[in-house]
Amino acid sequence: MSVKKVITRFAPSPTGFLHIGGARTALFNYYFAKSLDGEFHLRIEDTDKIRSTKEATDAIIEGLNWLGIPHDGEIIYQSANEKLHVKAAHKLLETEFAYKCYASSDELEALRKEALKTGKSFRSPYRDTKSTLKKPYTVRFRVPDGNTNIEDLVQGNINWNNANFDDFVLLRADGTPTYMLAVVVDDHNMNITHVIRGDDHLINAGRQAMIYNALGWTIPIWAHLSLIHGPDGKKLSKRHGALSVQEYKNMGYLPKGLKNYLLKLGWAHGDEELFFNESTITKIFSMDGVNSAPARLDFDKMDFINGQHIMKENDETLLSLLISTIDKQNKYQLNDILEKRLLNAMPSLKSRSKNIIDLTNQAEYLIITVPLQFTEKNKKIFQKNDAIKYLSALTSELKCLEELEWNNDNIQQVIKNYLELKNIGFGKVGQPVRMALTGGNPSPDLSLVLNYLGKTESLLRLQNIIDEYKDLIEE
Ligand code: GLU
Repeated sequence: MSVKKVITRFAPSPTGFLHIGGARTALFNYYFAKSLDGEFHLRIEDTDKIRSTKEATDAIIEGLNWLGIPHDGEIIYQSANEKLHVKAAHKLLETEFAYKCYASSDELEALRKEALKTGKSFRSPYRDTKSTLKKPYTVRFRVPDGNTNIEDLVQGNINWNNANFDDFVLLRADGTPTYMLAVVVDDHNMNITHVIRGDDHLINAGRQAMIYNALGWTIPIWAHLSLIHGPDGKKLSKRHGALSVQEYKNMGYLPKGLKNYLLKLGWAHGDEELFFNESTITKIFSMDGVNSAPARLDFDKMDFINGQHIMKENDETLLSLLISTIDKQNKYQLNDILEKRLLNAMPSLKSRSKNIIDLTNQAEYLIITVPLQFTEKNKKIFQKNDAIKYLSALTSELKCLEELEWNNDNIQQVIKNYLELKNIGFGKVGQPVRMALTGGNPSPDLSLVLNYLGKTESLLRLQNIIDEYKDLIEE
């Protein structure tokens, strides 16, 4: 027996950016198909000619590329299939599953008001008109009596009384197809086996199932994912900020990190494993682990997961992301020496960063140039007690270390010996030295700071402070 190839699709309307909810839908479609050696297609639903834009289409394609969700085959543009949609509507007219509704907009308004009053669904009076009138018309689906039942992989068995559905429009008065019709025709023609999408479309599955039945087509398997909610449990909205994939990119998330987080949002595999790599996911993904309860955005979890991916990312890749962020910020000019310094320090930088912006902040102490800028508060650190004397004396000790011996262990030893000799605590010398070297920017252990800056740069920064505060030494 031949098994039907699994084919899924992501079908966004190009009326705005790629929303993170949309990205998660795409991701589930992609991993589901790939886990079963199937295909994943991208269909741009651009039938709403007024609201669809090229910018939105580009943003969606770019967002999917950035996230690394490749689609099979060519991109399908729904507008190119209009003739097929119209053909299906005509077939439904012929078979009387649809009818021409000649109601004018005034008539429609009155009918809607009436329907609202009686609590009954909309049924056009033209439902039973057999004759053809010389008036503009829409084509409406003649909702049959009875019930519509679907089996949803996430939501379970859903049953609707058809009396609750309006006679919905299939073709508008200008002859253009509506979403409700177009989606069925396209899914059928693309041999889509599984429709995985947000549960805001669940009710549409009821309407679409009726169209499938009327056309005698096989109904795909549905899976309606619960929507993503904000951290406060309310439906995700502008108020929560950060709605587009582009915004997450700007915030410094790695595509791998965001993808991993979105995947975990509403899907579990056994015991809460948080970290996934690409090759494992395609092996273990299944719709069984998808939760039907709404998923809540949790930025701490997202940071944690992204931090794990940063830690595992290779240093060269992180360096190029760091360089492009620094270039974009246009505050520092990089050169070969600085880039080499950043690469050398990357193991320390990445272990302290949750995202690329974080990484950039952590890297700042390495790329600032002499003379460093200090706030008034930070300047006070050099003026405290004997701070500058200690700093100067330790500088002399460090000078004795040969360039070749300039490594973490030796630097630590020099500091330790000095503290023992003077019988003072680390803070007394550590605080001014760190300030002189970093300008108060985030930094790791002092010996690492000295190590990553290198002998020449470290001594240059220390000497600069000694020169500036020499009066305090000579007193
Ligand atoms: N174009 C629809 C949307 O962007 C999705 C249609 C579907 O997945 O069936 O909401």
